[in-house]
Amino acid sequence: MAEHYLPENLPTHIQHYIDGKKVDSIGGATFDVLDPVSNTNYATAAAGQKEDIDLAVAAATKAFNEGPWPRMKPRERARILNKIADAVEAQEARLAELETFDSGLPITQSRGQALRAAENFRFFADLIVAQFDDAMKVPGAQINYVNRKPIGVAGLITPWNTPFMLESWKLAPALASGCTVVLKPAEFTPLSASLWATIFEDAGLPHGVFNLVNGLGEDAGDALVKHPDVPLISFTGETTTGQTIFRNAATNLKGLSMELGGKSPCVVFADADLDAAIDSALFGVFSLNGERCTAGSRILVERAIYDEFCEKYAARAKNIVVGDPHDSKTEVGALVHPEHYNKVMSYVEIGKSEGRLLAGGGRPEGLDTGNYVAPTVFADVKPEARIFQEEIFGPVVAITPFENDDEALALANGVRYGLAAYIWTQNLTRAHNFAQNVEAGMVWLNSHNVRDLRTPFGGVKASGLGHEGGFRSIDFYTDQQAVHITLGTVHTPKFGSVEAAATLEG
Ligand code: NAD
Repeated sequence: MAEHYLPENLPTHIQHYIDGKKVDSIGGATFDVLDPVSNTNYATAAAGQKEDIDLAVAAATKAFNEGPWPRMKPRERARILNKIADAVEAQEARLAELETFDSGLPITQSRGQALRAAENFRFFADLIVAQFDDAMKVPGAQINYVNRKPIGVAGLITPWNTPFMLESWKLAPALASGCTVVLKPAEFTPLSASLWATIFEDAGLPHGVFNLVNGLGEDAGDALVKHPDVPLISFTGETTTGQTIFRNAATNLKGLSMELGGKSPCVVFADADLDAAIDSALFGVFSLNGERCTAGSRILVERAIYDEFCEKYAARAKNIVVGDPHDSKTEVGALVHPEHYNKVMSYVEIGKSEGRLLAGGGRPEGLDTGNYVAPTVFADVKPEARIFQEEIFGPVVAITPFENDDEALALANGVRYGLAAYIWTQNLTRAHNFAQNVEAGMVWLNSHNVRDLRTPFGGVKASGLGHEGGFRSIDFYTDQQAVHITLGTVHTPKFGSVEAAATLEG
């Protein structure tokens, strides 16, 4: 086996960043951080508790109430956001190296994620400069206009699957809107998030605008969700965690944006371009190690091409290069953590009694340590099977045949999730009808997930609440106050006056 890759200058301790300073937890608590190839602890991280969240929220509140950030002109904020994007791009290689080391994502894919993170900042810099708001005229009587205001301290809670990119996906619109933030990154992968502090400082972000508290979800995350001075929470993670957050946010009636789990269908009709569909259906579930919310993890295939599809798909899955995430030839790396590896492996075992194993089914040969799972393909999976219904979040796919459009739609919609759907057909009418009836927040026709940043992002059913993306993200982080201006004399019924009484009598 190849020698274990160790990035240079790896930190051995990761701190919080509060009010412009790197600090430990007040009580000194820490947790261990491991890398998924050796499964050994390489660092400790400060484990935030309620009192650490209190400090971070106090800093963010002060920066919001007294600092320049919410009051800057959009162009001034945009300049800083563009500097952040430049810095992310400039250290793309280092960022990707650390991300891959911490998360097990293949290095080529981590590099793509780092560039996407930069693009998120550039996109929202452009958007706020171009932003304008509604004005509504009632001739001779009224003008009404929208006074858009940042809401305040945004609590951002993120998962471990593409940590840095998903943090940028929340940080960029929150900061662009003029909010100040407290970020609680995922505890499995705190490494790349520790780079934000320097990036923001160098770009000139005022102290207190960005704060980061590491820690476990039930401690630091929970305290952030329950904090009375945090009016909105943007959360990405599991559906069950989202439900807990929803309950806990109710007391203070917080604004919530929830990007949750998925079990998205990839539907391949007999008239599809089969080679393109196979390429895409492989990439759609095995990229990012299958740890991808929009993974097309259920492939529904029309009966006429079912056998051919299964055979070709499985042959390709067996050829996927699994191995050292730092090797640029690797297509599937190591799963993030032994806990998650055990969960995915338990589904592989369940799948053996629920479907016909066509590829994978355990550890890849020659990789005896590290969280490696061979790309696993099950065919003939019934819709009631657990591997059809439940999110596995690993390199495991279920293939199911269908006879006609109605059955395909029923199968596609027959799960509790509704994040994405991918449809492969050459028939325009079918494609659009299917797209409009499938229960998914996002639909791709003849493609995997390739997303224009202006489009809405989010799921329906158990996959989420609310849509972010483009100006919808700005809407989430801002309040649209309506200001009504009277142009003439306002018509007012004169309650309690003589004329009013006369009018009533008349
Ligand atoms: P998770 O729900 O376990 O954790 C996500 C974050 O929530 C972490 O930072 C965690 O510490 C925190 N957390 C946990 N319990 C909390 C609590 N009680 N209060 C506050 N915060 C708490 O999810 P995960 O395992 O890190 O990520 C994988 C999941 O994320 C999958 O279900 C995946 O589909 C989903 N995901 C969704 C999207 C999307 O856009 N829809 C994108 C990426 C990942």
